[in-house]
Amino acid sequence: MKYLKSLSILILGAVVVACSTNPFTGKQTLALVPNSQILPMAFQQYEEFLSEHKVINNTADARMVKSVGQKIAAAAERYLTANGYAGYLTDYRWEYNLVASKDVNAWCMPGGKIVVYTGILPITKNEAGLAAVMGHEVAHALANHGQQRMSASQLQQLGAVAGNIALSNDPEYQNIFNTAYGVGTSVGVMLPFSRSHETEADHIGLILMAIAGYEPAVAAELWQRMQAQEQGAPPEFLSTHPSSSTRIQNIQAWAPEVRAEARKFGVTSFKR
Ligand SMILES: [Zn+2]
Repeated sequence: MKYLKSLSILILGAVVVACSTNPFTGKQTLALVPNSQILPMAFQQYEEFLSEHKVINNTADARMVKSVGQKIAAAAERYLTANGYAGYLTDYRWEYNLVASKDVNAWCMPGGKIVVYTGILPITKNEAGLAAVMGHEVAHALANHGQQRMSASQLQQLGAVAGNIALSNDPEYQNIFNTAYGVGTSVGVMLPFSRSHETEADHIGLILMAIAGYEPAVAAELWQRMQAQEQGAPPEFLSTHPSSSTRIQNIQAWAPEVRAEARKFGVTSFKR
C-alpha cells in the first residue's frame, strides 16, 4: 500500500509538468493524467455503459445523432488542422449513440465517446438544437475539462490505477472516473463543471456547430428552452449545466463572430 501511494505521488509529480496548450483557447492546461491512460479507461467505461443501457439503432433520431455527431467531429478536426494542430485527435475513436432514457442528459467522454439520451430530444427539438448540445459536450472533452474536474485526491487514486498498468475493475476507481466525466446517473453525485469551463465549452461548442453548418444563435434558443425546464424538477443535464441569462447573452453576443469564423471554412449558410 505504501509502495502504491509513493508510486502514485511519483506519477502525479511526473504528469504535473506535462503542460499542454489548449488549441481552442490558447491557454496552458495541465495534463494531469495523460491521454494514453485516460483513453483506454474511457473506452472501457463507454462499452460498459452501452452494455448496461438500451442503445437505439436505425430510427430517425438515432440516425440524426450519428450524422450530427459526425459533422461536429469533422468540424473539430478541420478547426484543429487549420490552427496548426493536425493530428491532435489521432487517438480519438469517435462514436455517437442514442440511449433510451427519460433522463435529460448527454455527454462526451475523452476520446470522442458520445451518448445522447432520448430524454433530451424534446428540448433539443431539432438537428441544430442537438448540434448545440453535442458541440458543447465535445468541447468539454476537447478541452480536457473532465480531468480538471477530478480532485487531487481522486487523481492520486487514478494515478495509482495508471501506475498499476492494468486498468482496475475496482468499482471505486470507475466511480471516480464516471463522476469526473459526468457519465453516471447510477453512480451517485454528478459534479458540475466550473463556470469558466462552462463558458469555454459554450464558446468552443458554438464554433464547432457553426463550422458543422448550424446556426449558432440556435444555441441561445436551446438554453432558453432548458431554462424553462428548470422549473419543477431540474433535469440531470441542468444539475451539471445550469442555464442562466449570462450564458444566453454570451451566446447571442458571440454568434456573429462565430459565423464569420465558420465562413473561413467555406460555410455559406447556417441550418436552424
Ligand atoms: Zn457543460
